[in-house]
Amino acid sequence: MSNCAIVGINWGDEGKGRMVDLLTSGYDAVVRYQGGGNAGHTVINESGKFALHLLPSGIFRRGVVNVLGNGVALDPENLMAEIDSVREKGVVIDENNLKISDRASLLLPWHRDLDALEEARLADKKYGSTRQGIAPFYSDKYQKKTVLAGELFYPEKLREHLAELLEWKNLTLTRVYGAEPYTMEMLEKWLKDHAERIKPFITDTGKLLRSMRDEEKNILFEAQLGSLRDLDFGIVPYTTSSNTTAAYAPIGSGCPDIRIDEVVGVVKAYSTCVGEGPFTCEWFGEEASRLREAGGEYGAKTGRPRRVGPIDIVATRYGVKVQAATCIALTKLDVLSYMDRIPVCTHYMLNGELTDEFPFPAALPDAEPVTEYLPGWGCDISACRSWDELPEAARNYVLFIEENIGCHIGYVSVGPERDSIIIR
Ligand code: GDP
Repeated sequence: MSNCAIVGINWGDEGKGRMVDLLTSGYDAVVRYQGGGNAGHTVINESGKFALHLLPSGIFRRGVVNVLGNGVALDPENLMAEIDSVREKGVVIDENNLKISDRASLLLPWHRDLDALEEARLADKKYGSTRQGIAPFYSDKYQKKTVLAGELFYPEKLREHLAELLEWKNLTLTRVYGAEPYTMEMLEKWLKDHAERIKPFITDTGKLLRSMRDEEKNILFEAQLGSLRDLDFGIVPYTTSSNTTAAYAPIGSGCPDIRIDEVVGVVKAYSTCVGEGPFTCEWFGEEASRLREAGGEYGAKTGRPRRVGPIDIVATRYGVKVQAATCIALTKLDVLSYMDRIPVCTHYMLNGELTDEFPFPAALPDAEPVTEYLPGWGCDISACRSWDELPEAARNYVLFIEENIGCHIGYVSVGPERDSIIIR
């Protein structure tokens, strides 16, 4: 038996969905343990192209049990819309292959409103929220002011609970933000139209995963976003509101007593970042547009153009440590084929000194990138399927990164399709 977590090493969008889709064949369960529908995994397979937001990427594999753990921000409205759209392409989703933790807290309709209201109040100091309600949701979860999915099975108590929350939340909505209050009728409609629909999937996922573990089944944990967006270890405050690190997977899945044997960290062959916050290696102008176009770097959820730059060794080495990665998957190497020479940000200059340590958040905006160049390979590599088929310059680039981040690169991805992969 072997349990594995697949996590992002950088700012997110590293291609985790593609790696989970590839690796799920060896696993019996795929678990999402944090975050909500505020990011997107893009998966391309024989059923089509999908942008998954909350559904685990194992949903396309027959026989795989997909779990949404207690650590996720469970938005019934968005989840059911996503299920409907994936089902439309012929993918089967039912209570046998999707399980929702009874301990998952529910993202309530006002969380999205509060997200938008607060971003509007912050104006040009905004955090770059995707306005999916994630930050207000997690704030309320930690204040114990939201409901658990399992409460849907206790309708009377649930209504009493919702009425209490409604009274409390309306104070914030009306008095702090001057917004319209919610009514119990609105919550009843939400229950009927959305929340009731997730009931068939709800179960005790801790019990389920524990029994799978005891039967020596293999479990894959799938993270959203990357190390640098981790609530505790990322570029605070430009982080997400949950822990994106592998260490959180046992807790957020419902099974704190489960052990993770392997952590596959996903790193893109260059850097991208969505939203606000310091992004030291950022490129601008023509150079940036070319890389953005070559990599198709537009947000899976929002369509926003992503900020781009060369691979950042300083940030990546930090991300590898924070995730305790045991192996790296390097994705999108094919995108760099158009470059004559391949840029690598190897160090930062901080207050006149060269450093290879990732700075504390308050110091990060002062860091300047130090860039080295490696020879390009000047040809299309997307058909390569073995290490030896890769041009020497491409191999040297991979080896340079491996040596500098201190972790074995076990997978090199040269295209979005499931089989466009080199396993080392
Ligand atoms: P995730 O959230 O980490 O899964 O990242 P995204 O959904 O943003 O995935 C990255 C994008 O790159 C998706 O559109 C993938 O289909 C695509 N992709 C993944 N790996 C590769 C690769 O090796 N080469 C190319 N050209 N595209 C890739």
